[in-house]
Amino acid sequence: MTIKYTVSLHNPHAHIFKVTIEISHPNKDGQIISLPAWIPGSYMIRDFAKNIISVQATSGQNDVDIEKIDKSTWQAAATKGALKLSYDVYAWDLSVRSAHFDMTHAFFNGSSLFLMPHGFENENCYVDIEKPTDPKYADWKVTTSLTNETSDSSGFGTYKAENYDDLIDHPVEIGTQSEFEFEVDNTTHAMAFTGQCRYDRERLKNDITKICQTHCTMFGELPKLKKYIFLTMVTGDGYGGLEHRSSTSLMCSRDDLPLTTESDEPNEKYRNYLGLCSHEYFHTWNIKRIKPASFMPYDLSKETYTQQLWAFEGITSYYDELALVRSKVISVDSYLELLGQTITRVLRGKGRFKQSIAESSFDAWTKFYKQDESAPNNIVSYYAKGALLALCLDLTIRKETENKKSLDDIMRYLWLNYGKKSIGLAEGQIEKICSEVSGVDLSDFFDNYLYGIEELPLENLLSEMGVTYNLRPTLSVDDKGGSPAKENNTNNNSFGARFAEHPAGAKIAQIFNDESAELAGLSSGDIVIAVNNLQVNKLTINNIVNSYQEDEELHIHAFRRDELKEFTLILKASELTTCYLQRNEQTNEDKKKNQKEWLFL
Ligand SMILES: [Zn+2]
Repeated sequence: MTIKYTVSLHNPHAHIFKVTIEISHPNKDGQIISLPAWIPGSYMIRDFAKNIISVQATSGQNDVDIEKIDKSTWQAAATKGALKLSYDVYAWDLSVRSAHFDMTHAFFNGSSLFLMPHGFENENCYVDIEKPTDPKYADWKVTTSLTNETSDSSGFGTYKAENYDDLIDHPVEIGTQSEFEFEVDNTTHAMAFTGQCRYDRERLKNDITKICQTHCTMFGELPKLKKYIFLTMVTGDGYGGLEHRSSTSLMCSRDDLPLTTESDEPNEKYRNYLGLCSHEYFHTWNIKRIKPASFMPYDLSKETYTQQLWAFEGITSYYDELALVRSKVISVDSYLELLGQTITRVLRGKGRFKQSIAESSFDAWTKFYKQDESAPNNIVSYYAKGALLALCLDLTIRKETENKKSLDDIMRYLWLNYGKKSIGLAEGQIEKICSEVSGVDLSDFFDNYLYGIEELPLENLLSEMGVTYNLRPTLSVDDKGGSPAKENNTNNNSFGARFAEHPAGAKIAQIFNDESAELAGLSSGDIVIAVNNLQVNKLTINNIVNSYQEDEELHIHAFRRDELKEFTLILKASELTTCYLQRNEQTNEDKKKNQKEWLFL
């Protein structure tokens, strides 16, 4: 049995890949083939087959009938010999999830290009990536963690995958990407950057090496890999990442990357990029190997439900930032700023009183991934609140065991007993393991904070680490929290809405339950044009609102669709939902010791 794909960079201007698959011994009753409807790591139905333009089937010199049987699936007529399918794929999605091809580069995930032959999912397969013949692309090369069989010095040639699952878990970048390598745990790692960018290679290499090493040290080892690759697409304002078993695809903004002028303490943008790399690298263990039983194997034809994403995205989000301070790439104060910002994001969402993190995980497909203007009121993020749940879990275990155990022990246990052995985790099993490994009965903890909607005991737990928890009003739309108020602003009134720019005024992007704007009758989508007869826009509305006192009435003119309406809004004081954390210098020696153990100081 041989399954062989070819990918040809057919037409960059029309964004078309030409792909073939040859199946040496197709199903005698007619071969069924399909494309995934979603890509692991991004829990939304995306129907990648919509980008397949046409499919032809042949056997030797003969055409074979082929019929489409659902949105992602085809069936070829029975053939005596080998079956070959040829098809064009439209690739114009600049994201980490699909495929993108033009005269600057080609990028694809196998889940967008490779049809899966049903019944042969577990067979080895081969991919030929053909070198473009146009001399314009003579300096293009291939960067991927797919296993190389025979290829030229630029990486064009044949790659091998163990099975279909392996085949689609190695994104491929083709172009003039700049690259460098480094070693972690005796394994070659590489970073590749596509898109116009400048960066301080030595700085990046130093910082990322330390972060990767910190994750390996915590888990005890790196999973067995031939190579690990960070693929980054650099654009003006990109952000995002998707994890794979031995690589990751990232998008960042040009000014996220460090220049030689970068200070020792990374600025906020560079810190974000390092956090993103740290996050995806942690997934190499946590979700790519330690995973829910319901993902083994993945059913990529439809939604796969799990309540466990808090553990895979929340715990990963906790460790992505923790590793920055543990590796000494950022300072403790910088870490506490990040943590304060995460707490602020969670406190500003009232959905946390309506949806538990377990429910948020289960409904990721239709709620978290399909957020609309009601999201802050109705849902909670299993990333942000999941990270804080992981923090509380870690600090609770440390407190109850007097630092003899921590979340690190749980993660190592999960790696050695589940991830490394390819055993999936049943629903609810991680919670039981947390209690067993730590020796602390955590059933109430999970009932209250994972399956329930109780507020997390952050203030008390952080105090045990010698960290004080402070709340203050939100000062402006750009106020992310994490640090004390800079200006001495006496009036902090809340309009109860978040605004977007609009040529006619300030457009209400989101409106918060039970706050002034909603109580006045305003809605998202309304365009506020005047407050007490003064014209406003997104930039000026805050200052005007803050020139009044709490409980004063504001006369609002706003358009709902094309109809002018008037509203009376009674100002309320801003809620104290902006958090910042500080090291308590006066704290006792025990708490200082706790802080050292926690942050590896
Ligand atoms: Zn993630």
